[in-house]
Amino acid sequence: MDALLARARLRQSFGRVISMDRFWLGEQLPELADDLDAAFRDIGREDLADCVWHTEIIEPCPCDSETCGTFYTVSHRIWTGKVERFFDLKVEGLICVHVENGQIAWVELLNRPDICKQLIRMFSYGLSDDEPDL
Ligand SMILES: [Zn+2]
Repeated sequence: MDALLARARLRQSFGRVISMDRFWLGEQLPELADDLDAAFRDIGREDLADCVWHTEIIEPCPCDSETCGTFYTVSHRIWTGKVERFFDLKVEGLICVHVENGQIAWVELLNRPDICKQLIRMFSYGLSDDEPDL
């Protein structure tokens, strides 16, 4: 019975993102959070500026580019398709922020090798602190 229960639990969790750590945008990428905060205030979207700091980074973009700083903040598995997109934000690099149901869902950010490196560091589980710099 215990084994059956364990298998059922495993099935339930399949496909969900499981992470030991939680990554908050404001904590992990404070400079980017600062830029996004200012950029959203610039266009009169204080609601989104306030969200920036406690937005959770769930997954980095899986592509191989060394300059891609794209990341997901709301599981794309639950997207409803009702999205607002912000292209003209005053943020270094090429940016498009996708907002879904008032939440920042996906930050597309290109030409940002610095953010790329930080994302790799955050999501490379098992790397110890004395690993050489990426
Ligand atoms: Zn990418």
